[in-house]
Amino acid sequence: MFQQTIKKSVEAVGIGLHSGEPIRLILEPMPVDSGIVFVHANSNTTIKLKPQNITETKLATVIGKRPNAISTIEHFLSAIYAYAIDNLKVTVYGNEMPVMDGSSISFCMLLDEAGIAKQNRTKSILVIKKEVKVEQDGKMAMLKPAKSPIFNFTIKFDHPAIGEQSFRYKFSKKNYIEQIARARTFGFSRDIQYLQSINLALGASLENAIGLDDSGVLNPEGLRFKDEFVRHKILDATGDLMVLGYQVVGEYSAVASSHELNHLLTLKLLENSNAYEIVRVPEYKESKELVKVFA
Ligand SMILES: [Zn+2]
Repeated sequence: MFQQTIKKSVEAVGIGLHSGEPIRLILEPMPVDSGIVFVHANSNTTIKLKPQNITETKLATVIGKRPNAISTIEHFLSAIYAYAIDNLKVTVYGNEMPVMDGSSISFCMLLDEAGIAKQNRTKSILVIKKEVKVEQDGKMAMLKPAKSPIFNFTIKFDHPAIGEQSFRYKFSKKNYIEQIARARTFGFSRDIQYLQSINLALGASLENAIGLDDSGVLNPEGLRFKDEFVRHKILDATGDLMVLGYQVVGEYSAVASSHELNHLLTLKLLENSNAYEIVRVPEYKESKELVKVFA
């Protein structure tokens, strides 16, 4: 299994969730062993994707130091994990990734448009060797060894449209596109009103999120899946693991986890050097299985 980048440069324009302004995004191929590199275009700042460069995780995952930081990278990174991209330049003309429709499907389509290019060096993956777990205020996130990536998530919201939802799936690019990529982010209208009063979430609308009031879903088109909420949490977790800079191979399980807790999980993993290993895919004993799941 070889490293991958994209065949040609592509670009997209979308609204910034917080600024409410149009944001231009350009994806370009990169040579082998470059990794995923963000460029904050307005300041010409280059920021390599790694957990140490994540500076905030409260409302969204933010990479780089403000004012030259890029916010809300998680949905984009989720698509990068699914497409097994190793090397890519991501130039953003603004302080946040465009929100698109609140899921990762637009980024998947952009990667399809660019095409995937195999490169002439073997790919490395991050294999989980020992269980690592973080807990906080009744929330939990953990990683444990598995032959290929598996995701489990449970959420519980005291809300008539959500309630308790659990989702488990064995990752493959095909399963991701069919079951996860179209699941949108969601927000409660009272939270949005508060955020907008402090000049955040100015771009939030029913075009880029599931909106909820106290009794139900506000979007006239309804939900894309009955359990769209928990599926979106898996979309987020996939992106949060990609912050490690590699496709993670192991079983992820979470109860009510957040970007913050997922970030703490990646940091705890890196502190335990016997809990993981960076492996060249040909040397990984389940490599045949992996070629199938990332195909
Ligand atoms: Zn999200």
